[in-house]
Amino acid sequence: MSVLESSATELLAELTAGNVTATELTQAYLGQIEKHDGAIGAFLNVDAERALSQAKAIDERRRAGEKLGLLAGLPVAVKDIFCTKGWTTTCGSRMLEHFVPPYDATVISKLIAADAVLIGKTNMDEFAMGGSTENSAFKQTHNPWGLDRTPGGSSGGAAAGVASSMAPLSIGTDTGGSIRQPAAFCGVTGMKPTYGRVSRYGLVAFASSLDQAGPLAKTAEDVALLLEVIAGHDPLDSTSANVPTPSYTSSVRQPLKGLRLGFAREHFGDGLDREVEAAVREAIKVYESQGATVHEVSLPHSKYAIATYYIIAPCEASSNLARYDGVHYGYRTDEKVMLAELAEERKELERAGDSANLAALDSSLVRMYRKTRSEGFGAEVKRRVMLGSYALSAGYYDAYYVKALKVRRLIREDYDAAFKDVDLIIGPTTATPAFKLGEMNEDPLAMYLQDLYTVSANLAGIAAISVPCGITQAGLPIGLQLQAAPFAEEKLLRAAHMFQQATDWHTRKPT
Ligand code: GLN
Repeated sequence: MSVLESSATELLAELTAGNVTATELTQAYLGQIEKHDGAIGAFLNVDAERALSQAKAIDERRRAGEKLGLLAGLPVAVKDIFCTKGWTTTCGSRMLEHFVPPYDATVISKLIAADAVLIGKTNMDEFAMGGSTENSAFKQTHNPWGLDRTPGGSSGGAAAGVASSMAPLSIGTDTGGSIRQPAAFCGVTGMKPTYGRVSRYGLVAFASSLDQAGPLAKTAEDVALLLEVIAGHDPLDSTSANVPTPSYTSSVRQPLKGLRLGFAREHFGDGLDREVEAAVREAIKVYESQGATVHEVSLPHSKYAIATYYIIAPCEASSNLARYDGVHYGYRTDEKVMLAELAEERKELERAGDSANLAALDSSLVRMYRKTRSEGFGAEVKRRVMLGSYALSAGYYDAYYVKALKVRRLIREDYDAAFKDVDLIIGPTTATPAFKLGEMNEDPLAMYLQDLYTVSANLAGIAAISVPCGITQAGLPIGLQLQAAPFAEEKLLRAAHMFQQATDWHTRKPT
C-alpha cells in the first residue's frame, strides 16, 4: 500500500521499522499537495523547506538511536487559527494576513515535542465563523468528493487535506461543529473533545466558552493517537481541565462490552435527508450486531440550541474581536489615504457651512478604527460583531444574553440526565451531505441551520466524534455522530473503532 493510502498508525509502524524515513514521507505528502492542492485549495501556507528540515532532523535522531516522540516523522496539517512562532497565522482573515506570531500555541508546542512534521496551515472560514470555508478571505476549498461541493467548515481545509491524502493527520477547532461537520462532509473521522481537554492557549479566540481544538484523521485509531499528544492540562489556559490524559492509543482497540446507545428523537426530525437517516439507522444496526443496546433518550431543549448558540457565540466574538483595532497588531488602514479623505470631507463641510456635520466628523483615531475594521473583516464577521454587540447592549443583555445562558444550562442538564442511562448518544452529524459551493451565499440563516446536530455538544461542553457511515447515491460521504459525557473521549474512540472494525466506510477514497 502506498504511504499516501496508509493510516497514520500504519505509517508510524513503517517509520519505526525503518521501512520509510520521515523525509520520504514528507516528500510524498508534499508531492501530493503539489499535485492536488491547486484543485482542492486545502492549504493557505505550505512551508516545504521547514517541513523537510524537521523531517531530516527527526531521521538523524532516529539513526542516532535517540528516543523520539509519539508522532515521530508524521506530517500534520494545522488549521490556520493556531499561532505558529515565526510562521504566518491568518485565521482566514485580511485582518491577520501578515501576522507572524511571536510564540507557538500549546497545541503546536505539543506537536513539535511529539516530533511531528508541520506540513502546512489549512484554510478556514474567517475567524472560524461559518460552515463552508467560503468565508475565508483568501480562497475557496473544494470537497475532494465533488469539486463543486463545500468541504464544510470552518475547518474545511483540515478535513479536505486528510480526505485527499495531502496529510495523514490534521488539527481543527470546533466551536459549534467545525471539526465534525467538515469531517462528515469529507468522509474522515473528526473529534471535538470535552471543553477544557485541549489547551486553547495560542488558539485565536472566536467564542471562548465554546472553542475547542481537536483531531481529524482517517481512522479512530489515528484520532486517538493525535488526541493523546495534544490533550492535557495547561497552566497557560485557565479553562483547561486539570485531569489526567488517558493513554487513548492503548485503549482504542478494546471493544466496549454492554454498550448502551441513546437514541434521541430530536435528532431524527424534519429536514433530515433520507439517505443520511438510512445510513445512521444502518449504523445503529451494526452496533446492535456487536451487542450494543439502544435506549430512547430525550433532549427536549435541543430545539433551542441554534438560537442559543447564535446569541452566545456572536456575543463572545464581538468581545474577542474588539482587539483588532489597527493598533496592537494586524491590519491597519492606509493612514495617508484616510487623513486625506478626512481633510477633504472637512473642507467640503466648511465650504457648505454645515456646522452640525462638522462637529460630528470623526476624529482621526476613530476614523482609523472604523476604516481598519471595515476593510479588515469580511461580511460574516461583521454580521456576528453587530449581532453580538446588539445582544450585549444595555436593555437587551437580559433578554438575549442572560436568557441564552439559562437555556444553555438546560441543554447541559438534558445531557446529564441522558448520560445517566446511556454511554453514548448516536445520531447524524449533519442533516444533509455536502451542499454546493455558493448554495447558501445569500442565506446566512440556512447556513446557521447546518449546525443543528452539532452545536448542543459545544453549548454543553461535552465530547463528540463524527465517523464516516455511508456514501450517498451522488457519491458524497455521510457522517455518524457519537456524543459522550464530559471527559469520556475514551468511550467515543473505542466505539468509533468498533464501528470501523465492522465497516469500511472510513477506507473509501474520493477519486
Ligand atoms: N458553523 C458554526 C458557526 O458558524 C460553527 C463554527 C465553528 O465551529 N467554528 O459559528
